Amino acid sequence: MKKFSKILMSLLMVLAGMLNSVYGLSTVAAQSDTDVESGASENAYEYTDPAELADAYDIIVIGAGGGGMAAAISAKDSGANVVVFEKMPIAGGNTLKASAGMNASETKFQEAEGIEDSNDLFFDETLVGGKETNDQELLRYFVDNSASAIDWLDSMGITLSNLTTTGGMSVERTHRPADGSAVGEYLVDGLIRNVLERDIPFFVNSNVVEILQTEGAVSGVKVEINGETVEVQADAVIVATGGFGGNLEMVTEYNSDLDGFVTTNHEGATGDGLLMAQALGAALVDMEQIQIHPTVEQETSYLVTEAVRGEGGILVSQSGERFHNELDTRDNVSAAIIALPEQYAYVVFDEALKGRVTAINQYESMGLVVKGDTIEELAEQIEVPVETLQATLDAWNESVTAGSDEAFGRTTGMSIGLEEAPYYAIKIAPGIHHTMGGLKINTNAEVLNEDGEVIPGLYAAGEASGGLHGQNRIGGNAVADIIIYGRQAGSKAAEFIK
Ligand SMILES: Cc1cc2nc3c(=O)[nH]c(=O)nc-3n(C[C@H](O)[C@H](O)[C@H](O)COP(=O)(O)OP(=O)(O)OC[C@H]3O[C@@H](n4cnc5c(N)ncnc54)[C@H](O)[C@@H]3O)c2cc1C
Repeated sequence: MKKFSKILMSLLMVLAGMLNSVYGLSTVAAQSDTDVESGASENAYEYTDPAELADAYDIIVIGAGGGGMAAAISAKDSGANVVVFEKMPIAGGNTLKASAGMNASETKFQEAEGIEDSNDLFFDETLVGGKETNDQELLRYFVDNSASAIDWLDSMGITLSNLTTTGGMSVERTHRPADGSAVGEYLVDGLIRNVLERDIPFFVNSNVVEILQTEGAVSGVKVEINGETVEVQADAVIVATGGFGGNLEMVTEYNSDLDGFVTTNHEGATGDGLLMAQALGAALVDMEQIQIHPTVEQETSYLVTEAVRGEGGILVSQSGERFHNELDTRDNVSAAIIALPEQYAYVVFDEALKGRVTAINQYESMGLVVKGDTIEELAEQIEVPVETLQATLDAWNESVTAGSDEAFGRTTGMSIGLEEAPYYAIKIAPGIHHTMGGLKINTNAEVLNEDGEVIPGLYAAGEASGGLHGQNRIGGNAVADIIIYGRQAGSKAAEFIK
């Protein structure tokens, strides 16, 4: 297949860079969560030339985040002729920003480290985290297929072998790259490579504006590409457009309490797929369930990964004290920060922890991290009482040694204390992070209408779908969702078109 020339590609990357500076869009290089080279920032991917666009394909995937690319790979490997349309100048979406990792249970990587886990425990903890409002059929399929999703990625050269934990999980089941770096850039790079290796037509700057239906069945899309709006036919369409956390108007329409909050989301997370599918009668679920993440740096809207707390970081208030179990679920930790008089807090950690979470190097290069050679110096810099901060760290280290946090009942992320100078702090507060609601799907990733009936040929996966997470998403479960249900959507759509 003819591809863009390198020169044209360079022009596109320049355009992406211009858009980035004008709109604050994510570019692969700009989104690097780590200084570890994953390869993504090194590559100018050769997306498909718009002149190659055909009139018809078997399956159209809308959106090239992790969910869309997983779906495309799976559909292609099931024998379908599939195309991907991505509206932004580069692929990746919010997936590119994902930092902590991907949750999965009973995996070979857990076994290799002697971590005991079970799909039932993963199910139960996700259900508790979601306040028992999760769609339990979706959740059952999700946990039971999580280990095979890790193996599937591994078979494609995407190896998530390093384990950590996130809030609400009692065992280490959050899988990340071997070097402990952020999951998103590494995952997106691997998925793009796999899409391109399979010669799947992959169009960027291609904004899908309508899903077409003929006699009740999906029949294609209308897409703005290369300065024109064209109709492209297909027997199945997979909506993988992500959530709406970047569309503040839509966020406040569903939850007016979130007016004025910053968002961690990329510019393209505008809920397009939800609206297009709704126009075909698709049902939406849990739309008011919008997650705020507790640790967002407010000047840059940059997320401080949960792995910092998962590896032993603590939260302290302006008075220098801990105030909540740092690894409680995100909604509870966010609520505790908002309840502080100052409505912000500091994530505090030491030099040893910095070595275990390489994403911190990125925060440091962005100027988000305050450093003190001693606890006293750190306290002075962030203007908290020195003795209180010292006492807080002493008490925390004693809790770690005792293996018991009597003050707040924390049980995870406390195997190593904070004892190695220098010490660090990042000022954070909650920000809009994830939209748990979306299109109602079944375990075949088929989109359902208001009567619970399948809309023939319409599939959805990832943050565009709703129900799996209930009222609170557990960190690491969204990346698992996009891979598990993206893969399922691709394979079921391929079965459907045969
Ligand atoms: C800062 C940050 C950190 C996170 N960290 C983690 C983590 O560590 N672990 C975890 O589990 N989850 C994490 N999440 C959540 C997780 O990354 C997302 O929920 C998930 O990646 C969404 O994937 P997706 O494929 O559904 O959507 P996306 O990755 O957002 O991709 C959707 C794509 O569709 C495109 N699109 C939208 N509309 C159209 C249209 N009309 N036409 C064509 N294309 C369109 C978008 O531009 C985008 O590229 C994080 C989220 C953020 C913002």
